[in-house]
Amino acid sequence: MKHIVVLTGAGISAESGLKTFRDSDGLWEGYNIQDVATPEAWEWNPALVQDFYNMRRKSVLEAKPNSAHCALAQLEEKFKVTIITQNIDDLHERGGSTNVVHLHGIITRSQSSKNPNLTYPINGWELKMGELCELGSQLRAHVVWFGEAVPMIDEAASICTTADLFILVGSSLAVYPAAGLINYVPRNVPKYIIDPKIPYLPSDHFIKIEEKATLGVPLLTNELLNE
Ligand code: NAD
Repeated sequence: MKHIVVLTGAGISAESGLKTFRDSDGLWEGYNIQDVATPEAWEWNPALVQDFYNMRRKSVLEAKPNSAHCALAQLEEKFKVTIITQNIDDLHERGGSTNVVHLHGIITRSQSSKNPNLTYPINGWELKMGELCELGSQLRAHVVWFGEAVPMIDEAASICTTADLFILVGSSLAVYPAAGLINYVPRNVPKYIIDPKIPYLPSDHFIKIEEKATLGVPLLTNELLNE
């Protein structure tokens, strides 16, 4: 069975109402990332960081998967599909995809601030200061901050090497090491990119679909399902 590997970024969830990151001048929902998405920020002002992710979690829970998430799930009818997402939302899963690798964690879970391997489901949208892990340390959002290691990167890279077809959707390719994953996809494999503003690509072997995800992804998946 053909293996389709899909790498997604914030752009795929934009039309579900979740703002992308680079589109707003390096600010994320009005915040400088240094103030909310780094280990230093957590050290300096944990309540602000907790609050920021509580707000993001609230928006994620209110959002619904769009036709791009759902179209990728439909590919499983005919192909082996692995989705590697940089997104911390759960819209791929709610759209029906069954094989999703979250490179940067998932906001619907919490994580021990002492041991990142200890993660827990969160009930509702709010993670409160004072909620502790089994080791007695404060729980934080289960997301990878800038400056932290990306534990899933080796597994993601090895998945990319097994792709028979590769699709990139809605990523500025500005965040590393995630952006480097495209270099692990074998040379001769067909590669597609779907983005209304195609970012700089180190390889010109990409077939460019310069459209929003809700239009471009179903177009491509229909073609693949009917070929
Ligand atoms: P990015 O914000 O840097 O880039 C977004 C890309 O999506 C751009 O290339 C833009 O042209 C494209 N885009 C905008 N609207 C689109 C649409 N309707 N359809 C398709 N593409 C569209 O995103 P990134 O490369 O994923 O990097 C940002 C980092 O911030 C990630 O690591 C991610 O963890 C985090 N983030 C996550 C979310 C989320 O989970 N939904 C949201 C914002 C940021």
